[in-house]
Amino acid sequence: MVPPLMVRQGELVLERLVQQGFEAYFVGGCVRDELMGRPVHDMDIATSATPEQVIALFDRTVPTGIQHGTVTVLMEDHAFEVTTFRKEAEYEGHRRPSEVQYVRDLEQDLQRRDFTMNAIAMDRHGRISDPYHGLQDIKAGVIRAVGSAAERFDEDALRMVRAVRFASVFGFRPTKSTWSGLRICRDKIAFIATERIRTELEKMITGPRPLRGLELLRRSGLLEYMNAPVPMSALRWSVKEAPNAWLAAIEHTEGAELPELRWSLLLQGLNVRGDEAGSLLKRWTFSRKLSQAVSNIIIFDEVMNTLLGHSSISLEARRIRFIETTLRLGKEAAEGWLLRRKALVKNHSPENKGADPDRANLLTEDFPEAAWYRAITVFALSDLKLSGGEIIAATGRKGGPWLTELLNGLLFAVAAGELRNEKNVLLEHAKAVVNTYGHI
Ligand code: ATP
Ligand code: MG
Repeated sequence: MVPPLMVRQGELVLERLVQQGFEAYFVGGCVRDELMGRPVHDMDIATSATPEQVIALFDRTVPTGIQHGTVTVLMEDHAFEVTTFRKEAEYEGHRRPSEVQYVRDLEQDLQRRDFTMNAIAMDRHGRISDPYHGLQDIKAGVIRAVGSAAERFDEDALRMVRAVRFASVFGFRPTKSTWSGLRICRDKIAFIATERIRTELEKMITGPRPLRGLELLRRSGLLEYMNAPVPMSALRWSVKEAPNAWLAAIEHTEGAELPELRWSLLLQGLNVRGDEAGSLLKRWTFSRKLSQAVSNIIIFDEVMNTLLGHSSISLEARRIRFIETTLRLGKEAAEGWLLRRKALVKNHSPENKGADPDRANLLTEDFPEAAWYRAITVFALSDLKLSGGEIIAATGRKGGPWLTELLNGLLFAVAAGELRNEKNVLLEHAKAVVNTYGHI
Protein backbone atom coordinates (compact mmCIF):
# COMPACT_ATOMS: atom_id res chain seq x y z
CA MET A 1 0.00 0.00 0.00
CA VAL A 2 2.99 2.29 -0.48
CA PRO A 3 2.94 4.38 -3.65
CA PRO A 4 5.49 2.59 -5.91
CA LEU A 5 7.45 5.73 -6.68
CA MET A 6 7.85 6.41 -2.98
CA VAL A 7 9.11 2.88 -2.32
CA ARG A 8 11.59 3.03 -5.16
CA GLN A 9 13.02 6.34 -4.08
CA GLY A 10 13.08 5.26 -0.44
CA GLU A 11 14.95 2.13 -1.44
CA LEU A 12 17.47 4.29 -3.25
CA VAL A 13 18.11 6.17 -0.01
CA LEU A 14 18.63 2.91 1.87
CA GLU A 15 20.90 1.54 -0.88
CA ARG A 16 23.12 4.59 -0.93
CA LEU A 17 23.56 4.39 2.85
CA VAL A 18 24.19 0.65 2.84
CA GLN A 19 26.70 0.92 -0.01
CA GLN A 20 28.66 3.34 2.13
CA GLY A 21 28.82 0.77 4.90
CA PHE A 22 26.00 2.11 7.08
CA GLU A 23 22.95 0.29 8.32
CA ALA A 24 19.63 1.69 7.15
CA TYR A 25 15.99 0.63 7.58
CA PHE A 26 12.47 1.80 7.06
CA VAL A 27 10.98 2.17 10.49
CA GLY A 28 7.97 3.24 12.53
CA GLY A 29 4.59 4.18 11.09
CA CYS A 30 5.34 3.23 7.49
CA VAL A 31 6.33 -0.33 8.37
CA ARG A 32 3.36 -0.69 10.67
CA ASP A 33 0.92 0.63 8.07
CA GLU A 34 2.40 -1.55 5.36
CA LEU A 35 2.08 -4.65 7.55
CA MET A 36 -1.50 -3.70 8.32
CA GLY A 37 -2.32 -3.13 4.66
CA ARG A 38 -3.04 0.53 5.28
CA PRO A 39 -2.02 3.35 2.97
CA VAL A 40 1.46 4.69 3.71
CA HIS A 41 1.81 8.46 3.47
CA ASP A 42 5.45 8.94 4.39
CA MET A 43 8.45 6.76 5.02
CA ASP A 44 10.87 7.29 7.89
CA ILE A 45 14.34 5.84 7.80
CA ALA A 46 16.67 4.94 10.69
CA THR A 47 20.39 4.66 10.07
CA SER A 48 23.73 4.20 11.75
CA ALA A 49 25.09 7.18 9.78
CA THR A 50 25.38 10.46 11.68
CA PRO A 51 23.46 13.50 10.38
CA GLU A 52 26.71 14.95 8.98
CA GLN A 53 27.37 11.72 7.11
CA VAL A 54 23.83 11.74 5.72
CA ILE A 55 24.19 15.35 4.59
CA ALA A 56 27.49 14.52 2.87
CA LEU A 57 25.96 11.56 1.02
CA PHE A 58 22.96 13.20 -0.63
CA ASP A 59 22.66 16.18 -2.94
CA ARG A 60 19.59 17.71 -1.42
CA THR A 61 19.05 17.62 2.33
CA VAL A 62 17.33 19.79 4.92
CA PRO A 63 18.47 19.70 8.56
CA THR A 64 14.89 19.48 9.83
CA GLY A 65 15.57 18.17 13.30
CA ILE A 66 19.29 18.03 13.53
CA GLN A 67 19.24 18.24 17.35
CA HIS A 68 17.25 14.99 17.31
CA GLY A 69 19.49 13.46 14.66
CA THR A 70 17.00 13.97 11.82
CA VAL A 71 17.87 15.09 8.31
CA THR A 72 15.31 15.23 5.52
CA VAL A 73 16.61 13.79 2.28
CA LEU A 74 14.90 15.13 -0.82
CA MET A 75 14.66 12.68 -3.67
CA GLU A 76 13.03 13.37 -7.01
CA ASP A 77 9.37 13.34 -5.89
CA HIS A 78 9.49 12.38 -2.25
CA ALA A 79 11.14 13.49 0.96
CA PHE A 80 12.41 11.05 3.60
CA GLU A 81 13.21 11.74 7.22
CA VAL A 82 16.46 10.01 7.98
CA THR A 83 17.24 9.72 11.68
CA THR A 84 20.42 8.44 13.25
CA PHE A 85 19.95 5.47 15.62
CA ARG A 86 19.43 7.08 18.95
CA LYS A 87 18.06 6.75 22.38
CA GLU A 88 16.56 9.58 24.28
CA ALA A 89 18.84 10.88 27.00
CA GLU A 90 17.26 12.15 30.20
CA TYR A 91 13.56 12.88 29.98
CA GLU A 92 12.65 16.10 31.70
CA GLY A 93 9.26 17.25 32.84
CA HIS A 94 7.57 14.15 31.36
CA ARG A 95 8.39 15.28 27.85
CA ARG A 96 10.71 14.10 25.17
CA PRO A 97 14.16 15.51 25.77
CA SER A 98 15.73 18.23 23.68
CA GLU A 99 18.99 16.28 23.59
CA VAL A 100 19.56 12.78 22.33
CA GLN A 101 22.33 10.21 22.40
CA TYR A 102 23.28 8.32 19.33
CA VAL A 103 23.53 4.57 19.72
CA ARG A 104 25.23 1.86 17.72
CA ASP A 105 22.54 -0.52 16.80
CA LEU A 106 19.03 -0.74 15.55
CA GLU A 107 17.66 -2.65 18.51
CA GLN A 108 18.48 0.15 20.92
CA ASP A 109 16.82 2.58 18.56
CA LEU A 110 13.68 0.45 18.46
CA GLN A 111 13.68 0.27 22.23
CA ARG A 112 13.03 4.02 22.61
CA ARG A 113 9.90 3.82 20.45
CA ASP A 114 6.50 3.99 22.05
CA PHE A 115 4.55 0.87 21.07
CA THR A 116 5.56 -2.54 19.79
CA MET A 117 3.74 -1.95 16.50
CA ASN A 118 5.83 1.20 15.99
CA ALA A 119 9.09 -0.55 16.84
CA ILE A 120 9.44 -2.68 13.71
CA ALA A 121 12.13 -2.05 11.11
CA MET A 122 12.30 -3.26 7.51
CA ASP A 123 15.39 -3.45 5.35
CA ARG A 124 15.50 -2.79 1.64
CA HIS A 125 14.76 -6.44 0.87
CA GLY A 126 11.60 -6.36 2.93
CA ARG A 127 13.09 -8.35 5.84
CA ILE A 128 11.77 -7.21 9.15
CA SER A 129 13.43 -6.77 12.55
CA ASP A 130 10.83 -7.06 15.23
CA PRO A 131 12.48 -7.63 18.61
CA TYR A 132 9.36 -6.60 20.57
CA HIS A 133 6.94 -8.79 18.60
CA GLY A 134 5.02 -5.90 17.15
CA LEU A 135 3.68 -8.01 14.29
CA GLN A 136 2.09 -10.41 16.74
CA ASP A 137 0.46 -7.46 18.52
CA ILE A 138 -0.78 -6.03 15.24
CA LYS A 139 -2.38 -9.38 14.44
CA ALA A 140 -3.96 -9.52 17.89
CA GLY A 141 -5.13 -5.91 17.54
CA VAL A 142 -3.42 -4.69 20.69
CA ILE A 143 -1.44 -1.61 21.64
CA ARG A 144 1.44 -2.55 23.89
CA ALA A 145 4.09 -0.22 25.25
CA VAL A 146 7.70 -1.21 24.59
CA GLY A 147 8.86 -2.21 28.08
CA SER A 148 7.10 -0.95 31.19
CA ALA A 149 4.08 1.13 30.20
CA ALA A 150 4.11 3.22 33.36
CA GLU A 151 7.78 4.07 32.84
CA ARG A 152 7.31 4.90 29.19
CA PHE A 153 4.30 7.12 29.90
CA ASP A 154 6.09 8.79 32.76
CA GLU A 155 9.03 9.58 30.44
CA ASP A 156 6.80 11.12 27.78
CA ALA A 157 3.18 11.66 28.69
CA LEU A 158 2.12 12.32 25.10
CA ARG A 159 2.42 8.59 24.48
CA MET A 160 -0.82 8.10 26.44
CA VAL A 161 -2.78 10.19 23.97
CA ARG A 162 -1.01 8.40 21.14
CA ALA A 163 -2.13 5.08 22.61
CA VAL A 164 -5.73 6.29 22.59
CA ARG A 165 -5.37 7.68 19.09
CA PHE A 166 -4.02 4.39 17.71
CA ALA A 167 -6.72 2.44 19.55
CA SER A 168 -9.32 4.70 17.99
CA VAL A 169 -7.99 4.84 14.43
CA PHE A 170 -7.12 1.13 14.19
CA GLY A 171 -9.92 -0.21 16.38
CA PHE A 172 -7.27 -1.81 18.63
CA ARG A 173 -7.31 -2.12 22.39
CA PRO A 174 -4.53 -1.34 24.81
CA THR A 175 -3.18 -4.38 26.69
CA LYS A 176 -4.05 -4.62 30.36
CA SER A 177 -0.63 -3.45 31.49
CA THR A 178 -0.54 -0.60 29.00
CA TRP A 179 -3.96 0.55 30.15
CA SER A 180 -3.08 0.38 33.82
CA GLY A 181 0.17 2.25 33.11
CA LEU A 182 -1.94 4.90 31.47
CA ARG A 183 -4.28 5.17 34.43
CA ILE A 184 -1.30 5.55 36.77
CA CYS A 185 0.35 8.28 34.72
CA ARG A 186 -2.66 10.14 33.41
CA ASP A 187 -2.14 13.31 35.43
CA LYS A 188 1.23 13.83 33.71
CA ILE A 189 -0.59 14.79 30.54
CA ALA A 190 -0.76 18.30 31.99
CA PHE A 191 2.97 18.66 31.24
CA ILE A 192 2.46 18.25 27.52
CA ALA A 193 2.09 21.22 25.19
CA THR A 194 -1.47 21.46 23.92
CA GLU A 195 -0.35 21.63 20.28
CA ARG A 196 1.09 18.14 20.49
CA ILE A 197 -2.10 16.77 22.00
CA ARG A 198 -4.15 18.59 19.40
CA THR A 199 -2.29 16.87 16.55
CA GLU A 200 -3.26 13.51 18.03
CA LEU A 201 -6.85 14.58 18.65
CA GLU A 202 -7.09 15.75 15.06
CA LYS A 203 -6.09 12.35 13.74
CA MET A 204 -8.54 10.72 16.10
CA ILE A 205 -11.51 12.90 15.26
CA THR A 206 -11.08 12.60 11.52
CA GLY A 207 -10.48 8.86 11.72
CA PRO A 208 -12.98 6.04 11.37
CA ARG A 209 -13.86 5.61 15.06
CA PRO A 210 -13.80 8.97 16.83
CA LEU A 211 -16.19 7.76 19.51
CA ARG A 212 -13.94 4.95 20.54
CA GLY A 213 -11.20 7.52 21.07
CA LEU A 214 -13.48 9.80 22.99
CA GLU A 215 -14.67 6.99 25.20
CA LEU A 216 -11.09 5.92 25.95
CA LEU A 217 -10.13 9.50 26.74
CA ARG A 218 -13.08 9.69 29.08
CA ARG A 219 -12.48 6.33 30.74
CA SER A 220 -8.79 7.00 31.17
CA GLY A 221 -9.49 10.37 32.76
CA LEU A 222 -7.03 12.03 30.37
CA LEU A 223 -9.60 14.64 29.34
CA GLU A 224 -9.73 15.88 32.89
CA TYR A 225 -6.02 16.37 33.30
CA MET A 226 -5.32 18.20 30.08
CA ASN A 227 -4.25 21.83 30.22
CA ALA A 228 -7.54 22.81 28.68
CA PRO A 229 -9.76 20.30 30.39
CA VAL A 230 -13.29 19.33 29.57
CA PRO A 231 -14.93 19.23 32.99
CA MET A 232 -16.14 15.71 33.58
CA SER A 233 -19.17 17.06 35.37
CA ALA A 234 -20.22 18.38 31.98
CA LEU A 235 -20.15 14.95 30.43
CA ARG A 236 -23.78 14.24 29.92
CA TRP A 237 -23.34 10.77 28.68
CA SER A 238 -20.73 8.20 28.22
CA VAL A 239 -20.56 6.87 24.72
CA LYS A 240 -22.48 3.77 25.75
CA GLU A 241 -25.47 5.71 27.03
CA ALA A 242 -25.67 8.25 24.25
CA PRO A 243 -28.55 8.31 21.81
CA ASN A 244 -27.65 5.93 19.03
CA ALA A 245 -28.66 8.22 16.23
CA TRP A 246 -26.42 10.90 17.64
CA LEU A 247 -23.49 8.53 17.88
CA ALA A 248 -24.05 7.08 14.44
CA ALA A 249 -24.17 10.60 13.05
CA ILE A 250 -20.78 11.37 14.55
CA GLU A 251 -19.23 8.31 12.98
CA HIS A 252 -20.93 8.74 9.65
CA THR A 253 -20.50 12.40 8.96
CA GLU A 254 -17.54 12.88 6.66
CA GLY A 255 -14.35 12.90 8.68
CA ALA A 256 -11.28 14.53 7.32
CA GLU A 257 -13.20 16.82 5.00
CA LEU A 258 -15.59 18.19 7.55
CA PRO A 259 -14.05 17.98 11.01
CA GLU A 260 -16.27 20.85 12.14
CA LEU A 261 -19.34 18.62 11.93
CA ARG A 262 -17.80 15.95 14.09
CA TRP A 263 -16.50 18.45 16.59
CA SER A 264 -19.85 20.15 16.83
CA LEU A 265 -21.58 16.85 17.53
CA LEU A 266 -18.95 15.69 19.97
CA LEU A 267 -18.77 18.88 21.97
CA GLN A 268 -22.50 19.32 22.06
CA GLY A 269 -22.71 15.72 23.21
CA LEU A 270 -20.34 16.69 26.00
CA ASN A 271 -22.78 19.47 26.86
CA VAL A 272 -20.45 22.22 25.75
CA ARG A 273 -22.44 25.28 24.66
CA GLY A 274 -21.87 26.93 21.31
CA ASP A 275 -20.38 30.07 22.79
CA GLU A 276 -17.97 27.97 24.89
CA ALA A 277 -17.03 25.57 22.12
CA GLY A 278 -15.04 28.12 20.13
CA SER A 279 -12.89 29.16 23.06
CA LEU A 280 -12.37 25.56 24.14
CA LEU A 281 -11.09 24.60 20.70
CA LYS A 282 -8.90 27.69 20.57
CA ARG A 283 -7.43 26.73 23.93
CA TRP A 284 -6.74 23.35 22.38
CA THR A 285 -4.86 25.35 19.71
CA PHE A 286 -7.20 24.53 16.86
CA SER A 287 -7.37 27.18 14.16
CA ARG A 288 -9.58 30.21 14.62
CA LYS A 289 -11.47 29.16 11.50
CA LEU A 290 -12.33 25.68 12.75
CA SER A 291 -13.16 26.95 16.24
CA GLN A 292 -15.51 29.56 14.84
CA ALA A 293 -17.14 27.09 12.46
CA VAL A 294 -17.84 24.59 15.25
CA SER A 295 -19.14 27.27 17.55
CA ASN A 296 -21.48 28.62 14.84
CA ILE A 297 -22.92 25.21 14.04
CA ILE A 298 -23.70 24.55 17.69
CA ILE A 299 -25.20 28.03 18.14
CA PHE A 300 -27.29 27.42 15.02
CA ASP A 301 -28.57 24.21 16.54
CA GLU A 302 -29.29 25.87 19.86
CA VAL A 303 -31.36 28.58 18.16
CA MET A 304 -33.36 26.04 16.18
CA ASN A 305 -33.83 23.80 19.20
CA THR A 306 -35.32 26.53 21.35
CA LEU A 307 -38.05 26.80 18.75
CA LEU A 308 -38.62 23.08 18.55
CA GLY A 309 -39.11 23.05 22.29
CA HIS A 310 -42.32 25.05 21.83
CA SER A 311 -44.94 22.88 20.19
CA SER A 312 -47.18 25.89 19.50
CA ILE A 313 -44.66 27.54 17.25
CA SER A 314 -45.80 27.74 13.64
CA LEU A 315 -43.88 26.47 10.68
CA GLU A 316 -43.70 30.00 9.33
CA ALA A 317 -42.13 31.28 12.53
CA ARG A 318 -39.60 28.50 12.25
CA ARG A 319 -38.84 29.42 8.67
CA ILE A 320 -38.27 33.05 9.61
CA ARG A 321 -35.99 32.06 12.44
CA PHE A 322 -34.09 29.73 10.17
CA ILE A 323 -33.48 32.44 7.59
CA GLU A 324 -32.50 35.01 10.21
CA THR A 325 -30.04 32.57 11.75
CA THR A 326 -28.58 31.72 8.37
CA LEU A 327 -28.00 35.39 7.64
CA ARG A 328 -26.56 36.03 11.09
CA LEU A 329 -24.21 33.05 11.30
CA GLY A 330 -23.46 32.65 7.62
CA LYS A 331 -23.75 30.20 4.79
CA GLU A 332 -21.14 27.75 6.15
CA ALA A 333 -22.87 27.49 9.50
CA ALA A 334 -26.21 26.82 7.82
CA GLU A 335 -24.74 24.20 5.53
CA GLY A 336 -22.88 22.56 8.38
CA TRP A 337 -26.02 22.44 10.46
CA LEU A 338 -28.04 20.99 7.57
CA LEU A 339 -25.49 18.30 6.86
CA ARG A 340 -25.42 17.40 10.50
CA ARG A 341 -29.18 17.32 10.61
CA LYS A 342 -29.24 15.01 7.61
CA ALA A 343 -26.77 12.67 9.25
CA LEU A 344 -28.92 12.61 12.37
CA VAL A 345 -32.12 11.92 10.47
CA LYS A 346 -30.49 9.27 8.33
CA ASN A 347 -29.22 7.47 11.36
CA HIS A 348 -32.48 7.57 13.17
CA SER A 349 -34.48 4.41 12.77
CA PRO A 350 -36.91 2.78 15.23
CA GLU A 351 -34.31 0.29 16.47
CA ASN A 352 -31.88 3.14 16.71
CA LYS A 353 -34.00 5.01 19.25
CA GLY A 354 -31.97 7.27 21.44
CA ALA A 355 -32.07 7.61 25.18
CA ASP A 356 -32.73 11.31 24.91
CA PRO A 357 -36.40 12.05 24.27
CA ASP A 358 -35.81 15.62 23.14
CA ARG A 359 -33.42 14.56 20.49
CA ALA A 360 -35.60 11.68 19.35
CA ASN A 361 -38.41 14.17 18.94
CA LEU A 362 -36.18 16.45 16.97
CA LEU A 363 -35.22 13.66 14.66
CA THR A 364 -38.73 12.58 13.75
CA GLU A 365 -39.72 16.14 12.90
CA ASP A 366 -40.14 17.02 9.29
CA PHE A 367 -37.07 18.40 7.70
CA PRO A 368 -38.25 21.46 5.83
CA GLU A 369 -35.10 23.49 6.47
CA ALA A 370 -33.31 21.91 3.55
CA ALA A 371 -35.94 23.29 1.16
CA TRP A 372 -35.93 26.68 2.89
CA TYR A 373 -32.19 26.80 2.54
CA ARG A 374 -32.26 26.00 -1.16
CA ALA A 375 -34.67 28.88 -1.70
CA ILE A 376 -32.29 31.46 -0.20
CA THR A 377 -30.55 33.43 -2.94
CA VAL A 378 -28.70 36.08 -0.93
CA PHE A 379 -26.49 35.63 2.12
CA ALA A 380 -24.65 38.91 2.53
CA LEU A 381 -25.23 42.59 1.84
CA SER A 382 -22.81 42.32 -1.06
CA ASP A 383 -25.28 39.94 -2.74
CA LEU A 384 -27.95 42.66 -2.86
CA LYS A 385 -28.49 44.44 -6.13
CA LEU A 386 -28.71 47.74 -4.25
CA SER A 387 -25.89 49.36 -2.30
CA GLY A 388 -25.89 51.72 0.66
CA GLY A 389 -24.39 54.43 -1.56
CA GLU A 390 -27.29 54.16 -3.96
CA ILE A 391 -29.81 54.53 -1.14
CA ILE A 392 -28.00 57.64 0.11
CA ALA A 393 -27.96 59.14 -3.38
CA ALA A 394 -31.64 58.44 -3.91
CA THR A 395 -32.87 59.69 -0.53
CA GLY A 396 -30.42 62.54 0.02
CA ARG A 397 -29.85 61.46 3.61
CA LYS A 398 -26.62 61.07 5.51
CA GLY A 399 -25.44 57.54 6.21
CA GLY A 400 -25.73 56.10 9.71
CA PRO A 401 -26.88 53.07 11.64
CA TRP A 402 -30.31 53.42 10.03
CA LEU A 403 -28.76 52.52 6.70
CA THR A 404 -27.29 49.23 7.93
CA GLU A 405 -30.58 48.40 9.54
CA LEU A 406 -32.43 49.16 6.33
CA LEU A 407 -30.01 47.11 4.23
CA ASN A 408 -30.32 44.17 6.59
CA GLY A 409 -34.08 44.46 6.37
CA LEU A 410 -33.85 44.31 2.59
CA LEU A 411 -31.48 41.36 2.77
CA PHE A 412 -33.90 39.45 4.95
CA ALA A 413 -36.84 40.30 2.73
CA VAL A 414 -35.02 39.03 -0.35
CA ALA A 415 -33.73 35.93 1.44
CA ALA A 416 -37.24 35.13 2.65
CA GLY A 417 -38.67 35.56 -0.85
CA GLU A 418 -40.70 38.67 0.03
CA LEU A 419 -38.86 40.97 -2.37
CA ARG A 420 -37.15 40.35 -5.68
CA ASN A 421 -33.46 41.10 -5.81
CA GLU A 422 -33.79 43.86 -8.42
CA LYS A 423 -32.45 47.37 -8.06
CA ASN A 424 -35.77 49.12 -8.77
CA VAL A 425 -37.78 46.91 -6.48
CA LEU A 426 -35.30 47.33 -3.64
CA LEU A 427 -35.01 51.08 -4.13
CA GLU A 428 -38.78 51.57 -4.13
CA HIS A 429 -39.00 49.57 -0.94
CA ALA A 430 -36.13 51.48 0.65
CA LYS A 431 -37.76 54.82 -0.17
CA ALA A 432 -41.06 53.69 1.25
CA VAL A 433 -39.36 52.71 4.49
CA VAL A 434 -37.50 56.01 4.71
CA ASN A 435 -40.69 57.94 4.05
CA THR A 436 -42.66 56.02 6.63
CA TYR A 437 -39.99 56.13 9.31
CA GLY A 438 -38.33 59.34 8.18
CA HIS A 439 -36.53 59.91 11.44
CA ILE A 440 -34.54 56.64 11.50
P1 ATP B 1 1.36 8.42 11.85
O1 ATP B 1 0.70 7.40 11.02
O2 ATP B 1 0.40 9.33 12.50
O3 ATP B 1 2.47 9.16 11.16
P2 ATP B 1 3.51 7.34 13.37
O4 ATP B 1 3.62 6.15 14.27
O5 ATP B 1 4.33 7.32 12.12
O6 ATP B 1 2.00 7.58 13.04
P3 ATP B 1 5.01 9.66 13.99
O7 ATP B 1 4.71 10.77 14.94
O8 ATP B 1 5.16 9.94 12.55
O9 ATP B 1 3.88 8.58 14.22
O10 ATP B 1 6.32 8.96 14.57
C1 ATP B 1 7.12 8.06 13.83
C2 ATP B 1 7.67 6.99 14.76
O11 ATP B 1 8.46 7.60 15.78
C3 ATP B 1 6.63 6.19 15.50
O12 ATP B 1 6.15 5.11 14.73
C4 ATP B 1 7.40 5.73 16.71
O13 ATP B 1 8.24 4.65 16.38
C5 ATP B 1 8.26 6.92 17.02
N1 ATP B 1 7.61 7.87 17.95
C6 ATP B 1 6.85 8.93 17.63
N2 ATP B 1 6.44 9.59 18.72
C7 ATP B 1 6.96 8.93 19.77
C8 ATP B 1 6.94 9.12 21.18
N3 ATP B 1 6.26 10.13 21.73
N4 ATP B 1 7.62 8.24 21.95
C9 ATP B 1 8.32 7.21 21.40
N5 ATP B 1 8.38 6.98 20.09
C10 ATP B 1 7.72 7.83 19.27
MG1 MG C 1 4.53 8.96 10.69
